[in-house]
Amino acid sequence: MAVSKRIVLRFPQRLVDRPIVYRLVKDFDLEFNILKASVTPDEEGLMVVELSGKQQDYDKGIKYLTTNGVKIQSLSQDVIRNEDRCTDCGACVTICPTHAFEVDPVSREVKFRNEKCVACGLCITACPPRAMEVHF
Ligand code: SF4
Ligand code: SF4
Repeated sequence: MAVSKRIVLRFPQRLVDRPIVYRLVKDFDLEFNILKASVTPDEEGLMVVELSGKQQDYDKGIKYLTTNGVKIQSLSQDVIRNEDRCTDCGACVTICPTHAFEVDPVSREVKFRNEKCVACGLCITACPPRAMEVHF
């Protein structure tokens, strides 16, 4: 059976330069489509990818990634902001790898663009009043 899934991969710093993606394609016969990629301020790599192939190859590929220290997250979860709690402090703005937060140049309000969010979870611990929430 063929599968195609969108997932978030988080690479620790030591893996950022390693040919992980190449190995997935070559050794596990998977198709790999990178939808977004960035490096967080603490040098962790983050990629949103679509991974397709036969179920057994997909499972082997995922096992290969996790045993090599790559963290995998499904995109089915959603991150939302509790507007009552947000104090517009701006702590989330630089930490978000996909630039889902924008500061209004006039009012200094921090706007959250949910459509840009890949649910990586980095803003959740970075937000002092815990305004960012993950929903499964
Ligand atoms: S979870 Fe937070 S830091 Fe991650 S992409 Fe979404 S808004 Fe940005
Ligand atoms: S870190 Fe939290 S409180 Fe600060 S601007 Fe971002 S969402 Fe609002």
